[in-house]
Amino acid sequence: MKFLKDQMPAALEMLRQMVGINSFTGNRQGVDRLGRLTAECFAPLGFTAEFVPSANPNYGDHLVLTRRGRTTKNIAMVSHLDTVFPPEEEERNNFSWQLEGDRIYGPGTHDIKGGTVMMWLVLQALRTPEPAVFEEITWKLFWNSSEETLSQDFADVCRNRFDRDTLAALVFESEGRLGGERLVVVARKGRGTWRVKVTGRGAHAGAKHPHGANAVVELAHILQRVAALTNYKQDLTFNVGTVSGGTVLNRVPHEAFAEGEFRAFTTEVYARAKAALLALSGPGEVRSPVDRYACEVKVEILTESRPWPRNPNTDRLAAIWQEAGKELGIPVNVQERGGLSDGNLLWDAVPTLDGLGPWGDNDHCSERSADSSKLPEYVDVTSFLPKAALNTTAILRLLEGRTTDGHR
Ligand SMILES: [Zn+2]
Repeated sequence: MKFLKDQMPAALEMLRQMVGINSFTGNRQGVDRLGRLTAECFAPLGFTAEFVPSANPNYGDHLVLTRRGRTTKNIAMVSHLDTVFPPEEEERNNFSWQLEGDRIYGPGTHDIKGGTVMMWLVLQALRTPEPAVFEEITWKLFWNSSEETLSQDFADVCRNRFDRDTLAALVFESEGRLGGERLVVVARKGRGTWRVKVTGRGAHAGAKHPHGANAVVELAHILQRVAALTNYKQDLTFNVGTVSGGTVLNRVPHEAFAEGEFRAFTTEVYARAKAALLALSGPGEVRSPVDRYACEVKVEILTESRPWPRNPNTDRLAAIWQEAGKELGIPVNVQERGGLSDGNLLWDAVPTLDGLGPWGDNDHCSERSADSSKLPEYVDVTSFLPKAALNTTAILRLLEGRTTDGHR
């Protein structure tokens, strides 16, 4: 703890510099600048950098840092470079590094630059008191340049570079809290995005109304059915996000569209939900009165991020974190989270644990109201030390191959 405490000024200075670089996903130059700064921050620990171009040319490079160890034992750590705030928004809302009491407000302080700094703290803490252990391990650190847009190509960047028998992929997204318990993330929902297109038959709304098959009315029917697929008992949600359709008021509309998403924790529920959604394709119930011409419904899946379900490999890691918590007097519990992370891309390749970053709140918010009912993203400074100690202790236990009851 004393050692970690001494590292905090350097860690916070590192965080300040990182937060000072706008790394909105669409700001390619900013993301690349942050990637270079990150590589420089970890270089004194013996890491060498590889910059991997994104599949999307509008995004910055993914960053991979490697430190070869003396044995084949290896551990991966995962974070991301990008944030959700365009530079204009940061400026408009005067949203930048601001220390107030225990809180640091600023873009990415919590999601996820604070997580990156947590990685640095943990590696420092492992290296200095336990240099022999640190030197044994091959450490591979991965930063997604475009996590906030769910870039799937990052999965290959990691999977192609994982060594054999990687002990863990540790993801440094933010910590969960429940009362005094710190929550590590052991599952995340999968998410599918979809689009419904209804094709009807246009007609003059005055002269030939019965000839029309109203695409907007059909879409309204279909969206009721989509919404009804939500099943809270199964942790399955469907969200209708946007609708559009029709052109001018004297036409029976010939086209209408809607887009949305659905989310589920388990592979089975996800697959059933997707099938039920796709089954809505086909002739609709809205028909033209004159000749029974039917609207046509077409459902397509736009993007998919697979669920990260509860699984024994992740649970084993979580148990190690809980045991480490006991050793340190920090209560640790597990959490299944609705939002996605890079853990969704990795859990079936390597045992994966998430939520290892610091604590904070209001991610993805840049606004502050005069009465403080609206506050922007912040990280809690006091959450770094205990969490770094927890992560360090847990990693040492993982490397010793101790089982949860303390035996080898
Ligand atoms: Zn994040």
